[in-house]
Amino acid sequence: MNMKLIEKYAEFAVLIGTNPKPEQTLIINCPVELSYFARMCAEVAYVKANVREVVVNYKDEKLDRIKLIHTETEVLEDVKPYIPRATLDYLESEGQACFLHIIASDPEIYKGLDKERVDKAVVAREKALKPIRAYTMNDRVQWSIVALPSEPWAVKVFPDVSAEEAVLKLWKAIFDVCRVTGGDPVGEWKEHVAKIKASRDKINDLELESIHMTNSLGTDLRVGLADGAIWEGASSKTSKGYEFIANIPTEEVFTAPHREKTEGIVYGTKPYVYNGNLIEDFWAKFKNGKVVEYGAREGEDLLGQLLDTDEGAKHIGEVALVPVSSPINKTGILFYDTLFDENASCHIAFGDAYPTTVKGGSSASKDELLKRGVNQSLVHEDVMVGSDDMKIVGTTRTGDKVLIFKNGEWII
Ligand code: ZN
Ligand code: ZN
Repeated sequence: MNMKLIEKYAEFAVLIGTNPKPEQTLIINCPVELSYFARMCAEVAYVKANVREVVVNYKDEKLDRIKLIHTETEVLEDVKPYIPRATLDYLESEGQACFLHIIASDPEIYKGLDKERVDKAVVAREKALKPIRAYTMNDRVQWSIVALPSEPWAVKVFPDVSAEEAVLKLWKAIFDVCRVTGGDPVGEWKEHVAKIKASRDKINDLELESIHMTNSLGTDLRVGLADGAIWEGASSKTSKGYEFIANIPTEEVFTAPHREKTEGIVYGTKPYVYNGNLIEDFWAKFKNGKVVEYGAREGEDLLGQLLDTDEGAKHIGEVALVPVSSPINKTGILFYDTLFDENASCHIAFGDAYPTTVKGGSSASKDELLKRGVNQSLVHEDVMVGSDDMKIVGTTRTGDKVLIFKNGEWII
C-alpha cells in the first residue's frame, strides 16, 4: 500500500480522531503486528501535537486465543488489578490521558472455542476495565478508534482472491470510506463533520419524544427517547472543550432511547459479528423496552447469550440514524466489523447507553440516569436495522408528526 497515504491516515487519526493536547499522555492501544503504525502515530503526536508523552500498549489476539484454549476458566476470570491500574494512573494524573485505539481484528478469532468460557473471559475483562470505560463513555477524555487491515479480516471480506490481494483491497476500501484516498483526509473530514453536525442540529431542534421506524422487511418499531435525550453525531467534546471523533469512520446521528419505551418488532439487515462469531438475519420483539422474543437464521444461541449478559442487555441503549448514501453502504462491502458496518445503516444497540446522549448525563449519578430511562449494561452491541426503504417518523413533545427519513435518507 502507498506509504504516503498510510502516513496521512496516521496523521488524521491522531490530529482529527483523538486530538491530543500538550499536557496529555496519548495512550495508543495497537495490535502487535502493526507496531509500525503505532510508531507513525507516536511521531505525529510528538511533532505535530506536542504531546508530553506517548504510551503504546501492544495487543496480541493470537496469544489471547492460546490462553483461552489452554488455561482454567478461573484464570480467565481473574483479571489482575494492575491491568486497569496501568491506564488509570495516567487518567488520574494532572494532565490526564487520551486514547487512540488501533484495531485490525480477526473476525473469527474465537471460532470453535467454548462460547461460555469466552463469554466469561470477556465479561471479567469488561468488569475490570469499567472504571476506564467511565472516562470514555462519558467523554471525559478524548478517544478514537481506527481500523487497519489484518490478513484474516481481509480474507473474510474478500474470500475470492489471494490473501495478498485481499489485504490490498481492504486497504483501498478503508481508505475510500475514511476519505483518505483523495490525499487530504484532514480537510475532507472537516467538511464531512460540518454536514453531520447540520443534520444533528436539525433533529435536536424538533425536540422529539419518540421515533417510529418501518420498512418492507416487517420492521415496525417505536422507540421512545430517554428523558432529556439529545442527538449526537460527528465529533464529540470533552468537558474541557477538546473535540474528537470517537469512531472512524462515522456517519451516524444517535441518541439514548428510554429503556422501557421501545415497542414492536425489528429485523436485522446486515450480519453482525459478536465475539468473533456471526449473527445473521435476526429479529427481536420488544415489550416495555425489553426483548421478549427473538430469533436468527444463524447464531440464535449467540444472540441469546448476548441478551443474557445482564438485565440491561435485553434493553437498548442507542438508536442511530445513518443514510443509505453513506460511503460504507455504497461500497456494498460487508466489513464484518461493527465499526464500519454500523455506519452503513441505521442501527440500535443492545445494552449500555452513552450518558452523553442525555442533558447533563455526564455528571448525573447512575440512579438518576436510570430514572430518566438511560440504559445500563456491561455490553454495548450495535446491530444494523436500516434499509433503502426505511421510513422514520418522529413525534415531537407537542404531538406533531415529522417525517425524518424516507427511502433510507435524511429528509429534514
Ligand atoms: Zn452507533
Ligand atoms: Zn453504538
